[in-house]
Amino acid sequence: MKNPSTAQNISAATRLRLRITAAAETIVRSGHPWLFADSIHELNRAGASGELAVIYDRKDKFLAVGLFDPDSPIRVRILHAGKPQTIDAAWWQARLEQALARRRDLFDAQTTGYRLIHGESDGWPGLVLDHYDTTLVLKIYTAAWLPRLDEMLTLLKENVPCERIVLRLSRNIQAAAEHRTPVRRDGEILFSQRAETMLGAPIIFLENGLRFEADVLRGQKTGFFLDQRENRREVETLARGRRVLNAFSFSGGFSVYAARGGAKSVTDLDMSAHAVESAKRNFALNQNFPGVAACRHETVRADAFEWMASEAEKFDLIVLDPPSLAKRAAEHEGAIRAYERLNSQGIEKLARDGILVAGSCSAHVPAMEFFDAVRRAAMKSGRKFSEFKTLQHPPDHPAAFKEAEYLKVIYLKFET
Ligand code: SAH
Repeated sequence: MKNPSTAQNISAATRLRLRITAAAETIVRSGHPWLFADSIHELNRAGASGELAVIYDRKDKFLAVGLFDPDSPIRVRILHAGKPQTIDAAWWQARLEQALARRRDLFDAQTTGYRLIHGESDGWPGLVLDHYDTTLVLKIYTAAWLPRLDEMLTLLKENVPCERIVLRLSRNIQAAAEHRTPVRRDGEILFSQRAETMLGAPIIFLENGLRFEADVLRGQKTGFFLDQRENRREVETLARGRRVLNAFSFSGGFSVYAARGGAKSVTDLDMSAHAVESAKRNFALNQNFPGVAACRHETVRADAFEWMASEAEKFDLIVLDPPSLAKRAAEHEGAIRAYERLNSQGIEKLARDGILVAGSCSAHVPAMEFFDAVRRAAMKSGRKFSEFKTLQHPPDHPAAFKEAEYLKVIYLKFET
């Protein structure tokens, strides 16, 4: 049975219509994808999760259409602003094709793990689609997609070659998903052509020729930090002959690259037992590369802040890629100080001629403020240093508006 709240079943007369504040009108017109609840001053009726909401301007002209989300402060996630458009199956297909076309020439057969849809910045608010070998992982961050999952599944099966589609749910919508009919669960397999016995096993995929495992059913994000691919590649070129510390290593991605690039040793440091075990397996998966086979690999399961404060060992290249230190906007100031402290700790552990690769994945800390915090830590060390690179979003993770910019990495070399 079709969900009665989906747009297809609602006649134009009962279509959910909104009017919004003048300030919000300007923001929506400029292409921003979020309409907050407090910007709405008129609604013709109560809206259901996931139905289409049409926004009209002060002159009663169509302004935009988006997904209604009664349970989120982001009440409407804009799908389209400008001239009126009909959001039907053909529209969704065209939107999907745009995202696929954007990635068409980015990767060769040596990279089979990448992002196909990156949320708002690809025109798919609150939805991510990752490709790992022959598996697709669909992750949703708003309950507004739940009533549309069958529609999306059909669309994906018809347009993206794959053997399996896995559903991932962000933590904040898991309870809502379990109370719906049909029940939806994080890690659920929506579709599979694979043998039953293979369903729970991690996927092995390629990134720049290296083999990595991804736990697509349970792992963080969708199983791997695909967004750091370019930085891992960069670290590979910097690692020759160096003793490398990979702090907040997760499954050791940076380390395997560093080893292939000729690192003398790599130490993976993470507080999660799963992460450390996965880092060992990822190292083992790449023994065919002489650099990886020759590299000494050590894993440490510990709190990175405590371990760095207590260990005397020095390193020649340190990657500091912590989880977001500001989960909410209110934590912004504290996060800046925490980044500065963390990087001071890292710099203390760097040997002469050492390289610091410092990252932040917090959307609430703008790139310039993060870079300045790392530079302050470097200046306070009293050592001679130079900055030689900054990197932000890779092309399969575009950031089309300010709030979407989360990833930034700065590279410093300390001569003394
Ligand atoms: N650099 C990784 C991604 C890092 S994600 C990559 O490229 O794949 C952040 C990691 O930090 C997670 O694996 C998490 O387990 C770990 N972590 C979080 N807090 C930590 C702490 N205090 N000490 C050590 N590890 C921590």
